[in-house]
Amino acid sequence: MKVAIIGAGVGGMASACRLAKLGCEVEIYEKNSKAGGRLSNFQENGFRVDTGPTLLLMPWVLRRLFEDLGRKMEDYLELKQLHPIYRIYFEDGSRIEPSSDAKKMIEEISKISKKDADAYSRYLADYRKYYQIALSEFIEKNFDSPLDMLSLRSISALLSSGALRDMYSKTGDYFSDPRVRIAFSLQSVYIGAAPTKLPAVYGLIPYVEFTEGVWYPKGGLYSIAEALIALCNELGVRIHTSRGVERIMVEDGVAKGLALADGTKAEADAVISNADLPYTYLRLIDERHRPHMTDSKVLSLKTSCSAFMLYLGIEGEVGLPHHSFILPSDYLKTFEDIFDRKAMPQKPGIYIANPCAHDSSLAPEGKSIIYVLIPVPNLSSGIDWKKEAPKLREIALRKLEEIGVKDIEKRIVMERVFTPYDWKEAYGLENGATFGLSPHLLQSAAFRPPNKDRKIKRLYFVGASTHPGSGIPIVLLSAELIEKRFRDDFGLG
Ligand SMILES: Cc1cc2nc3c(=O)[nH]c(=O)nc-3n(C[C@H](O)[C@H](O)[C@H](O)COP(=O)(O)OP(=O)(O)OC[C@H]3O[C@@H](n4cnc5c(N)ncnc54)[C@H](O)[C@@H]3O)c2cc1C
Repeated sequence: MKVAIIGAGVGGMASACRLAKLGCEVEIYEKNSKAGGRLSNFQENGFRVDTGPTLLLMPWVLRRLFEDLGRKMEDYLELKQLHPIYRIYFEDGSRIEPSSDAKKMIEEISKISKKDADAYSRYLADYRKYYQIALSEFIEKNFDSPLDMLSLRSISALLSSGALRDMYSKTGDYFSDPRVRIAFSLQSVYIGAAPTKLPAVYGLIPYVEFTEGVWYPKGGLYSIAEALIALCNELGVRIHTSRGVERIMVEDGVAKGLALADGTKAEADAVISNADLPYTYLRLIDERHRPHMTDSKVLSLKTSCSAFMLYLGIEGEVGLPHHSFILPSDYLKTFEDIFDRKAMPQKPGIYIANPCAHDSSLAPEGKSIIYVLIPVPNLSSGIDWKKEAPKLREIALRKLEEIGVKDIEKRIVMERVFTPYDWKEAYGLENGATFGLSPHLLQSAAFRPPNKDRKIKRLYFVGASTHPGSGIPIVLLSAELIEKRFRDDFGLG
């Protein structure tokens, strides 16, 4: 069976390998000059800078990919667990360094609130249950229709995991100090949403961090993309870079292959789009073939926030942990600015990575890298990024100075900026929405656009904007769900 995949992101490459293992002949067509998608990096003057992901969660999902393909992850990647997980700088001068060691975590919470520290064991016990329920009922399972959520089992799973409340308010069941509550909900930015707008079940992200840890692959996160490329090569998957797809060919309601930007065609028995789902419908499928997903329906889907990025090469050491967050005291207001006012956050939350803290191979001797990510409104806000980018850069540099990175401006030897325009341009993300479709309740699990088109036969989706959602491990799970689909639909394996 011939399968054509649009896009060599994590989802495209992982599903390609899984299907090749089942005996399919798989070709990936990628518009960019290198594979990896948002899991990318650049190299300049001896710096090797990750541009997208910096934290690896749920490493067991990545390990399972290698095992399912009959390989050992250790032969491809060297993973290191980070201690502490990160440092959070609050505006009042207090700090917390979450840890995946429960004893240390309790000590850290105690520095802020003894009462909240006492609640940690109860939190762990509850979330252990929610995690198992969420994995089996919502995450590792294909959905065909929202009606699939109407089973008694699903409804009781939804209710027991508190999915009908929001992530931030759920933290109040355990903790009362606002800083602790933020430490247990700031992770909503990993998927581009406000903690007050996400179902409480996403509170599993901090739980996973605080129990399974945060991991780092030597050489940077792009090493994961390189490992996936190696797997593709070994399994006979051909990745055609710099070969963009212009159209999915549909005949009599069946996907027949791809029309490429260079004028050639790639016929196939099935098509999988790893390009972002809204973009795939809007730009790659003629509207007459999709009465169920008209332009207006696709445009009514909510997209995540975007991200302003600053990548710096610095003379000397940075003196920060691998990951840090610098948060304003009115952190939740940042999200009102981003999502409700659609305006530049007046006091942004800032994430900083200092990857050289664990990996000196990423920079020339005596130099370091600083990676800055600031969540910002997506392009639906109409913000003029030519005007705003320099202002945000100034804010970021000032905050870095405040937390101890002295004379930063003078020490910059390499600099690149990425704005929401770049996310749209580089990866076809509608509205420059860095994390794809928003994961709020009505776009999660069975309510998220499914990975199998409802009308066009033999058309599938893999990646951040289909089920289960965004983030490397979750996209890897989406590739597992594609394998399940192909086993069921085509009797493979
Ligand atoms: C700044 C940033 C920070 C992040 N941090 C983390 C983190 O710390 N940890 C984590 O787990 N996740 C993180 N993520 C999320 C993670 O990167 C994504 O969820 C994941 O990489 C998405 O993979 P994907 O396979 O869905 O799609 P993508 O990576 O978007 O890949 C899709 C591919 O399709 C290609 N394509 C698009 N249109 C066409 C076309 N017409 N023809 C051919 N090819 C096409 C694109 O070029 C791209 O290569 C971060 C993302 C960003 C952007």
